[in-house]
Amino acid sequence: MRIAALSGGVGGARFLRGLVEVADPSLLTIVGNVGDDVEVLGMHVSPDLDSILYALSGLHDEERGWGRAEETWHALETVSALGGEAWFRLGDRDLGLHLVRTQALRDGQALSQVTARLARALGLEPALVPATDDGLRTWLETPAGRFPFQEWFVARGHRDEVDALRYEGAADAAPAPGVVAALDDADLIVIAPSNPYVSIGPILAVPAIRAALERRRVPAVAVSPLVGGRAVKGPADRMLARLAGGTSPAHVASCYAGLIDALVLDEADADDTASLPVRPIVTRTLMVDGDARRRLAEAVLEVAPV
Ligand code: GDP
Ligand code: CA
Repeated sequence: MRIAALSGGVGGARFLRGLVEVADPSLLTIVGNVGDDVEVLGMHVSPDLDSILYALSGLHDEERGWGRAEETWHALETVSALGGEAWFRLGDRDLGLHLVRTQALRDGQALSQVTARLARALGLEPALVPATDDGLRTWLETPAGRFPFQEWFVARGHRDEVDALRYEGAADAAPAPGVVAALDDADLIVIAPSNPYVSIGPILAVPAIRAALERRRVPAVAVSPLVGGRAVKGPADRMLARLAGGTSPAHVASCYAGLIDALVLDEADADDTASLPVRPIVTRTLMVDGDARRRLAEAVLEVAPV
């Protein structure tokens, strides 16, 4: 079975670790978010692609939830001591990857080419493709002003409420090579339990990607990132409350109107599905360990044609 999965960083990567264990990873294409990519210290950082690269190669830090295990921070300490830009946390091991990516981009390679190379070097079985090779950046409009994603998320600790999002460059962005083919050829389309606004939103803002989902002839299923109406981590619940008007499964599904046929939701949200316009699949969705991740991935596969 060929699967195409749209994913953000941490929540998405956690889910993908389960998916590659219950489905054939060589038939999986992951379309990653690039809306929160950032230039720091002269380097191009793709936090969501990196979370996926690290999680699927086993290099990730389980406790911190992002970055690499056994990380050290000497380079950043030096940057800080020298009065450099140190607000965005980059570990020593992590830096090596950013150096390689940045050089390749400067040499004229596309982000998708570099990403494929990194994925191969790290032994990933699925294909990992950025949504686009073109510039696409998420901006947040808040009562305190407009901020690029990382400034809002990291520097300001996502404390500002979000009134609106802008996916700069998305309207003119072309999908990276292979993205539309993966969606058109898939037997199942999956949206990971990622933040609908800042992780999946930028991917769906690329017109040809949205169009591929709209014309799908196979089931598409999303996994809710909420458990009991609350985000496991991060601002997804606050954003849904303010931008969609609530945190029920129907509110989550409203972010994907016309694009999904089923929503995997947690048992804790199961009594709130009356107005859900797509098929509910109820399971425990908190990915506490390998068993939980696999169980969640299996629930997603229930939607697949037999
Ligand atoms: P980011 O790009 O690193 O912010 O990560 P994502 O957007 O991919 O994932 C963030 C979302 O993952 C948050 O909204 C969390 O609620 C969700 N999440 C994290 N862990 C879990 C989990 O165990 N189960 C579910 N259902 N969602 C989770
Ligand atoms: Ca992200």
